[in-house]
Amino acid sequence: MAKREIGGWILPIPVDRLLKRLHDAGYEAYLVGGCVRDCILGRAVNDYDVATVALPEQVKACFAKEKVLETGIRHGTVTVVLEGMALEVTTYRIDGDYADGRRPDSVTFTSHLIQDLSRRDFTINAMAYHPREGLVDPFGGWADLQAKTIRCVGVPQTRFEEDALRILRALRFASQLSFALDVDTADAVHSLCGRLPCIARERVQTELVKLLVGKEAGQVLLGYSDVICTAIPQLKPSIGFAHDNPHHRYDVWTHTCQTVALCGEDPVVRLAALLHDVGKPFCFSRDENGMGHFYGHAAQSVEIASDIMKTLRFDSKTIHEVETLIRWHDVPIVPTEKSVRRWLARIGVQQLRRLLDLKKADLLATGTRRHEDPQVQQLDTIASLAEQNATTCLTLRQLHVDGNDLIRLGFLPGRLLGDTLQRLLQEVMDGDCVNKKEALCMRAQELLIEKEETI
Ligand code: ATP
Ligand code: MG
Repeated sequence: MAKREIGGWILPIPVDRLLKRLHDAGYEAYLVGGCVRDCILGRAVNDYDVATVALPEQVKACFAKEKVLETGIRHGTVTVVLEGMALEVTTYRIDGDYADGRRPDSVTFTSHLIQDLSRRDFTINAMAYHPREGLVDPFGGWADLQAKTIRCVGVPQTRFEEDALRILRALRFASQLSFALDVDTADAVHSLCGRLPCIARERVQTELVKLLVGKEAGQVLLGYSDVICTAIPQLKPSIGFAHDNPHHRYDVWTHTCQTVALCGEDPVVRLAALLHDVGKPFCFSRDENGMGHFYGHAAQSVEIASDIMKTLRFDSKTIHEVETLIRWHDVPIVPTEKSVRRWLARIGVQQLRRLLDLKKADLLATGTRRHEDPQVQQLDTIASLAEQNATTCLTLRQLHVDGNDLIRLGFLPGRLLGDTLQRLLQEVMDGDCVNKKEALCMRAQELLIEKEETI
């Protein structure tokens, strides 16, 4: 069995204690999967997963005094909470047949680590490590990590037929790690991606988001558009759809991929970037000079994006935030304090930051604009105005008068009261009134008198 020390790997104390406790009880146990891969790469480790020969009940007995959650006991997984750290411990297992191409019909426990490693998806995810035993690497994961290669454990065709989600996982690892797919793995990805629709939408969503926020998302989307379009068929019309406009060098899909690549790694922005022009092919028109236009494409894209996100089971907050960004992505923002404050009041500082990020990426991804261009520079000016004004009075809650104050001044509960509060907020944001109770009450009284005079 190939073993190799991973130099300088210092484990968190609870992880070390967990491995030791199992070993002291006579059970073999190793760190496995993502944490081994990320440690070798020097990346931050997400979570430490442990595989062991011990059965779930035996693991529980080893940690009788600790909190143990039966997170996936049917598949052999329990979560041990040790000194505040949650650690998943899974019994070595072999997956049974995958009749439905998405989950094994049964799992069987085994006492052999190598069998457990052989059910894992890619060689770089099929290594195990123990501080005293070193690295166990039966499928050449270490070499593939050095070569930056994603390669299936076993025959790619079979592995993707078993579980088509692995197709998307291959792409997300390529995007996250800046790796390339091995030729056979890539061939199988292309030839079997038609199986993706049978995968649970929640699982697709998880991998898609990880792909999107990866460093190489733009490249991976472009290189594997067939796969992405199987997961999200509504993107298909964008592929090869020409802008026929001198402001755009690329077709809609290439522009989309470039936009994804050029904006920050915030999942909401990346998702908005992926979907911001999905409605373009349905809004195309040509003017008398033969130039292409896409009037109304933002609203059309919001509608399609909304359907896509619902199908993929995104939560309503994400859906709302992405819709907002898409809705406004094409609307100009005036670079003045007054206008920026209004935008802050309308969508809030976090969303405005995201919107500016998206707008900048969208401009640069036309392939005809550069960072030095005035339009791009203007977005930077707006971004600094947004930061300078981020803490000024922006919501009704932050206004130093409320409905009760206005009722004391003679307002009746109802529409006029609400409108007056909005008006006061607007005046504070525009710098026409200070956010102090006395000043606001005086102004409210003026407005009330004005109103009464007009009746
Ligand atoms: P991350 O750091 O993003 O969590 P990860 O590699 O830990 O990456 P997980 O989804 O947490 O990914 O899976 C943990 C491990 O389980 C993987 O490293 C791999 O060994 C195995 N695995 C996960 N999903 C599959 C799958 N669909 N088919 C085969 N093995 C899988
Ligand atoms: Mg993980």
